[in-house]
Amino acid sequence: MNKRFEAVSKIAEYRSGPLLKSAPSSAEIFGEDVFNSEKITKYLSKPTAQKLLDTINNRKQLDPAIAPEVAHALKEWAIERGATHYTHWFQPLNGATAEKHDSFLELNGDLGIFSFSAKNLIVGEPDASSFPSGGLRYTFEARGYTAWDPTSPAFIRRHGNGATLCIPTAFCSYSGDALDQKTPLLRSIQSLSVAVKRLMKVFDQPDGNVKATLGPEQEYFLIDKRFYLHRADLLQTGRTLFGVTPPKHQQLEDHYFGSIRKRILAFMTDAEKELWSLGIPAKTRHNEVSPAQFELATIFEELNLAVDHNMLVMEVLKEVADRHGLVCLLHEKPFAGVNGSGKHNNWSINYGGVNLLDPGDTPHQNAIFLTVLSSIIMAIDKHSDLLRVSVIGAGNDHRLGANEAPPAIISIYLGDQLAEIIEQLEKGAPSSSRSHGPMRIGVDTLPALPKDATDRNRTSPFAFTGNKFEFRAPGSGQSCSGPMTILNTIVASAMDEISDRLEKLKGADFNEGLQKLLSEIVHTHKRIIFNGDNYTADWKIEAAKRALPNDKSTMEALKALTAKKNIEMFEKYSVYNKRELESRYEVFMEEYHKKIRIEGEIALDIARSMILPAVTKEYSEAVAAFAKANASGVTEGTAALKKNIATLGNSLDELNQKIDNIAKAVKGLHEEILSAMSDLRVTVDRLEGIVRDEFWPLPKYREMLFIY
Ligand code: ADP
Ligand code: MG
Repeated sequence: MNKRFEAVSKIAEYRSGPLLKSAPSSAEIFGEDVFNSEKITKYLSKPTAQKLLDTINNRKQLDPAIAPEVAHALKEWAIERGATHYTHWFQPLNGATAEKHDSFLELNGDLGIFSFSAKNLIVGEPDASSFPSGGLRYTFEARGYTAWDPTSPAFIRRHGNGATLCIPTAFCSYSGDALDQKTPLLRSIQSLSVAVKRLMKVFDQPDGNVKATLGPEQEYFLIDKRFYLHRADLLQTGRTLFGVTPPKHQQLEDHYFGSIRKRILAFMTDAEKELWSLGIPAKTRHNEVSPAQFELATIFEELNLAVDHNMLVMEVLKEVADRHGLVCLLHEKPFAGVNGSGKHNNWSINYGGVNLLDPGDTPHQNAIFLTVLSSIIMAIDKHSDLLRVSVIGAGNDHRLGANEAPPAIISIYLGDQLAEIIEQLEKGAPSSSRSHGPMRIGVDTLPALPKDATDRNRTSPFAFTGNKFEFRAPGSGQSCSGPMTILNTIVASAMDEISDRLEKLKGADFNEGLQKLLSEIVHTHKRIIFNGDNYTADWKIEAAKRALPNDKSTMEALKALTAKKNIEMFEKYSVYNKRELESRYEVFMEEYHKKIRIEGEIALDIARSMILPAVTKEYSEAVAAFAKANASGVTEGTAALKKNIATLGNSLDELNQKIDNIAKAVKGLHEEILSAMSDLRVTVDRLEGIVRDEFWPLPKYREMLFIY
C-alpha cells in the first residue's frame, strides 16, 4: 500500500484515553525541577541563600566565595531528583541551545563518588570549536568558555531513565568576545538598567530595581510524525518545498480559537506539566489561524529568564510532540498558502515594582510614562534598521510582509487615543477629547487608556497594547534574545539622550522644558507612528514617502549590523564590540546562504528521485493504456487517453527541464537557487493535481494539515 495511505489508516486508529473525572491538582509541581528560591533557602545556609537571592532578584554581583556551597547544594538536590550528570547549558549562534554532559562521577582510589566542585559550576571549557563564530575564533587562543549565569536558576531535564542538572551559562571566547546570544542580552539589560535609573533620578524617583520584562507568545504547527517522516523537505529544512494548498484551508476561520482536538489537548497537557515542573509559567493555549497551528503563551517574567524559558519551551514542545507521535514545526513558514508562525515579544520595563509603560494616575506618573514612551518612539525611529535585522532569517523572509505578519517596514502602533495625546503633545494644542485646554505635562492627567484587545492593530510590527509593547515580527523558531538585546540598547540610548537634556533643566522650569523636549521628539520622530493597516499597498507607498527603511529580505537587512552609527552605539553601551558585530554579520550571512543551498539541493533530490519517477510511471501507464486500446481496436476513449498522454508528456518534459535548471542553480548564488526552486515548485504542484493520488509520493497538505 502507498505509505501515505498506510499513515492515514494508522492515524485513524487513534483513540483518546478515558476522561479523567477528577484531575490531580498540579500547582505544586510548579518549579519542582528548578533550584528556585524555595530550594535555595532549603539547601543553603542563611547567609549564602541571602547572597544568591540578592544576585537573582537585585542583580547584585555574585560573591564568588559562595560558589563551593552552592555547587555542593546543587549536586545534593540534583542527585535526590535522580540526576547523574550535569551540563553547562548555553545558546550559541546557531539559534539552538547546546549542552555537553559530564557525570558527577569522580574516582576516590577504586571507589566511585559523586562530586561537583565550585570550579565546575562557575566555568566550563567545552571548547565547542565547531559552533559558528564568524571568524572570532580563528586565532590560537580562541578557546570557548562557558560562565555560570546565576540569575537564571539551574534546572533538571529528564529523559526516560535518567536526568541531567542544567546550569544556564554564557558562552565567550578566551578574549571575552561573546560567542552566544545570552552575553549581549545580559549586557543590554545592564545598559538599560543604568539608563532607566538615570532617567528616574531626573524625575526624583526613589532608588529602585530595573527589570525588563518579556512575555512571549509562541506559535507552532503540529503534524503527525508518520507524514513527517515521508517529507524529506520538512525533515531537512523545516518547511515544505512542494505541496498544494487544499481548497479548504483557513479561509473559513473555523480553526482559530476552535475547540481543541483531544489528541492535541493530551499533548498540550503533557507539555504544560513538563513546563510547570521547569518553573515555566505556561498560561494560555489555543488553536491558531491555520489548520494544525497552535499557540502557547507564558506569563511574563524578567527578560533574561523569559528568554531562557522560551528556549526551553521550544525544546519541550518538540520532545513532548514526539512522545505523542506528533512533530512540532517551529519553522516560520512550514506551509505555503496558510499563515506562518511568529513569536510575539511582549516587552516592558519595571522600575521599583512599577510598570513604566503603565500611564499611571497622577500627572507626575503620566509625565514619566510620556517620557518613556517618547524615548521608545525616538529609539525605534532612529534604529528601525536594527529592529529589522534582529528578525532576519531564511525562514522569516517568507513570513514578513506576506499579509499574515507585519511588513518588513518597522512602525509603531499607539492606538487612536494615545496617538491623539502624542499629537497634542507635539502641538501643545487642545485635543477634541479633552474638555479643557492643552495638555500640560506634570499638571494635567491623562485620560484612562483602553487596555482591551478590541483596540489592537494586529497588522503592526510594534504595537502598544495598554501597558507593554508587542513586537510581532520575530519568527517562531528564533530566540527572543536578538530582538530584545537590540530593543534594550536602542531604548537605553534614547533615554540617555533625553536625560542629557533634562539633567540641565532641574528646577522650576522642569515641566516646561520637558514639555518642549517631548514635543520636539514627537515632531522629529512621528513618521515612525502608523495606526493604519500595515498590510496595504498604500502603507508601502506612504512609508516610502516618510523615508522609512523597507529591507525586504535578510540580505538587505543585514547591512544594519555593521553600519557605522550602529557600531558606535553598541560599543558605547558595551553590548557588542565591532568584532562581535562583524562576526555576527558573517555568521548570519553564512547561515542564510547555507540554508538556501540546502533547500535547493533537497528540492532537486525530491524532484529527481520521487516526483520524476511518479510522473514517469503515470505516463507509461497512460501510454500502455492507449496502446492496449488501439491494439484491441477500441476507439471510444482513445481521444481522452491521447490528451492525457499529451498533458503528462508535456509536463514531464517541463519537469525534466526544471530539474536541469535547479541542478545548475544550486551551484550558484542564492537568488538563482530561490528562483529555480519556486519555478520548479509550480510544475511539481501542478503535477500533484494530475498524477493519480496513489502514485504521489509526498504526503499532501490536505493530509498533513487535517489528519491528526
Ligand atoms: P494577545 O492578546 O496578544 O494574544 P495574551 O494575553 O495572549 O495577548 O499575551 C500577552 C502576553 O503579554 C502574555 O505573555 C503576558 O504575560 C504578557 N504581558 C502582560 N503584561 C506584561 C508586561 N508588563 N511585560 C511583558 N509582558 C507582559
Ligand atoms: Mg499578542
